[in-house]
Amino acid sequence: MAVKKYESGSGIVIGIDHEKCVGSGECVSVCPVSVFELVDNKSTAPNVEACIECCACVSACPTGAIDHSSC
Ligand code: SF4
Ligand code: SF4
Repeated sequence: MAVKKYESGSGIVIGIDHEKCVGSGECVSVCPVSVFELVDNKSTAPNVEACIECCACVSACPTGAIDHSSC
């Protein structure tokens, strides 16, 4: 499994499937609080603590690579 999981102190879990992620960057652009960062052309979520659960990242990802516990 190539899913990387990021969990906040409040229990928000963002999973990013690196087999599906194509490095397109929509998640980085659309997130209003800059949760995501591209590393070696794959999305990571180092700032998961800032997430406001708007679900824009899940909607914007063209390959369905993002799994969000609140969305
Ligand atoms: S929008 Fe989806 S495919 Fe594009 S970088 Fe983010 S997780 Fe990867
Ligand atoms: S749910 Fe919204 S705030 Fe949270 S990571 Fe996705 S786009 Fe950013």
